[in-house]
Amino acid sequence: MADCSETLRELEAFLDGELTTDTTEGIHAHLEGCMDCLQAFDFHAELRMVVREKCSNDEIPAGLLSRIEQCFGEDFDGDGTIG
Ligand SMILES: [Zn+2]
Repeated sequence: MADCSETLRELEAFLDGELTTDTTEGIHAHLEGCMDCLQAFDFHAELRMVVREKCSNDEIPAGLLSRIEQCFGEDFDGDGTIG
């Protein structure tokens, strides 16, 4: 089974479907049991979707934007609000 560092390292290839079946299954199994990696995976998958949509559409969903801000700004209040 993949560990956290391997999962995070392979995340982009995983999203691209470039991994072998064995590795893909290992990462799947890891994501089911590891909330940290699952959140990282969710974030990457969503970010990737937005980037793809941005090619034809200039809008970023407000909810996603605030999630991105939360991910990159550690000094926000812990209660989910900004400011
Ligand atoms: Zn993990």
